[in-house]
Parts: sequence; C-alpha cells; structure tokens
Amino acid sequence: MQPRDLSATNPYVPGRGIEEVARDLGLESDELIKLSSNENPHGSSPKAVEAVTDRATQGLHVYPKAAHTDLTEKLAAKWNLASEQIWVSPGADGSIDYLSRAMLEPGQSVLVPDPGFAYYSMSARHHHGEVAAYDLSKADSFAQDADVVLESYDGERIVHITSPHNPTGTEWNREEITRLLEAVEDHTLVVVDEAYGEYSAEPSSIELLDAYDNLAVLRTFSKAYGLAGLRIGYCAVPTEWADAYGRVNTPFAANELACRAALAALDDNDHLEQSVETARWAREYLAENLNVPTVESAGNFVLAEVGDAEAVAEQSQREGVIIRNCTSFGLAGCVRISCGTREETKQAVETLNEILAEVAPT
Ligand code: PMP
Repeated sequence: MQPRDLSATNPYVPGRGIEEVARDLGLESDELIKLSSNENPHGSSPKAVEAVTDRATQGLHVYPKAAHTDLTEKLAAKWNLASEQIWVSPGADGSIDYLSRAMLEPGQSVLVPDPGFAYYSMSARHHHGEVAAYDLSKADSFAQDADVVLESYDGERIVHITSPHNPTGTEWNREEITRLLEAVEDHTLVVVDEAYGEYSAEPSSIELLDAYDNLAVLRTFSKAYGLAGLRIGYCAVPTEWADAYGRVNTPFAANELACRAALAALDDNDHLEQSVETARWAREYLAENLNVPTVESAGNFVLAEVGDAEAVAEQSQREGVIIRNCTSFGLAGCVRISCGTREETKQAVETLNEILAEVAPT
C-alpha cells in the first residue's frame, strides 16, 4: 500500500521549536530566544488565556457551535460585513484549504510568489491542482506590484499575494492591488494574505470586498493576537459566493477553546497595541543595528542577507538565539529574524553581529 504520488509536494519545514532545540543543546527553554517562527514575544492576550481557562473547566464535551457563531458575528461587525462573508478556520492555513476546495477543479493552476509561504502550493496540490510561480526579485528588493505578478500570470484560477510578505516583509499598496484585481481574467480569484496585516500601516483589502467579487482576504490570530498554538484564523469573502463555506468547511474544525480565545482577544486592545508597537520598534532596531543589509519590513520580522545563512543560523542557535535559515524559501544567503521583546531583540542583534564578524558573508 502506498499513498498517491506526492513527489511534487515538499514537506512543510517549520521553524524549530524551542523545546526541541533546548533538548538538543542540553539547555532549559528559558535560556533560549526563539525568533524563528514570527510568533508573538508577548505571548497570548491575557483575556484570551482567561477565556480558555474558564471554558476548559465548563466542559469541552459539546461541539463548538455558539462560540463559532459568536466569533463569526464579531468579526463580521468588526469589518462591516455580513456574517456569511466570514469563513472561520483552523488558522489561516485552514482558510487556504477552504479556498482551494471551493475554487479548484482537478488540474487547474494557482500562481504563488517565489520566495513565498509554502502552504499555498501545498494546499493546491492537496486539492489536485497545479502550481506556477511569479518571482519576487532580490535585485529589486523583493518589491511587490501588479506587474510583477502579471509578467508570469497565465489565467490561473487562484493568484496568491502576501501583504506583508513572508519572508521578505515587503507589501502591496491599495492601488496596485486594485490594478491586479482588474487585470486578471474573470475566473481568477486573487487571495490577499494579511496574516501580518496588523503590523502594517496599509488599509486591509477587506474594504475592497464590496467592489470586487474576485477577492478573498486571509487573516489570522496566530501573530498579533498571540494565539498560534490554538490554530484560529479566517477568510473574508464577497457575498456573491460566500455560501460555499457550508459546502467546503470541515465541520467544527475551529475548536471551542480557539473560538473563545479569539473572541476575548478581539476585546484586548492593550495586548494588540503592545504587540504591534514592539514589532514596529524591533524591525527598525534590527534594520538599523544589524551589520548586514536588510529588507524594509512591514511585518514582525526582518530578512537579512548574511551570506552563509546555514552557518549563521546554526551558530546563532548554539549561542541561544534561534533564527530562521531561509534556504527552504529558496533564499540560501538570507536569514529571517522575528521581532522579539526589546530585550530579546537587542540580545539577538548583539549575538548576530558577533557571529557575522566571524562568519564572513560570501
Ligand atoms: N500566511 C502567511 C504568510 C504565514 O506566514 C503564515 C504562518 N506562518 C500563515 C499564512 C498561516 O498562519 P496560521 O498560523 O494562521 O495558519
């Protein structure tokens, strides 16, 4: 017995977990600074933690129904949409799957950024789709605009764009997004991934859903709300095909605790503001103080050009600062450093600059 031919799909390579690395190095977790997965250095919203704790003691034996409805309604009110336009999912990853299920016939193609977030192509392949890529050019500082996509666009069913982009941190502006929405063929859905949207000063593309029915926008609670461990996100879609959700979602995939935590986190402005403010400070600090070229970032991380990324990331990890070697993104010369607390970020810069002085950039 064998699974179907999965050879076109590369396994997803996550940033290494803190317990995993601590075990390897014979250290305690709190001796390490983990800046490899764009997580929230302030942890989860305290209100969300309280909601989870309360709920856990009140019984988890029933399916998550009211919590899912309440979260959908709260998000719809936040964005001024109808409830049916919010597709709640287990992480933004879950929404990527729901969109693949809703849109792709077997053999149809999606267009994804290269470098870019690996799950767009994985999801397309899970749903018997094909994958083509558009290049973000290092020489052009990974700039993103309609022309960059349209140069490679060939009538694909889905075009994925990411703003702010992972791992480069570059973003789209409103004018270029509308230019893309208008330039693609009628059957093409443009998915704008705003997983890092809270850290950006650009307005959300959710505001465009009234005007464009070939748009879907991804959002998550994993980053600015600090709920990555609970797996909760959503997609905002136009009214025209919003009812597809009932046909494509995995029943009850967004669990009770995750929905309750997200509801509480939406009411915790202090945590959100602190998270965004720290990330904005840290990305400036990284750009100004690292002794290597960096890309201007609108997210909670910075891409740095270090030469031998593998050697730098390994040495950094040995010295207690876990960062992301971007070779798996196709950027062998770069590392991605997530924004930590002020203390963590300063420590990371000090450690990295020492390593960079030893490991000469190639
Ligand atoms: N989109 C991008 C660009 C991401 O970087 C990530 C996670 N790293 C996701 C989506 C998925 O986020 P979630 O945890 O909500 O599934």
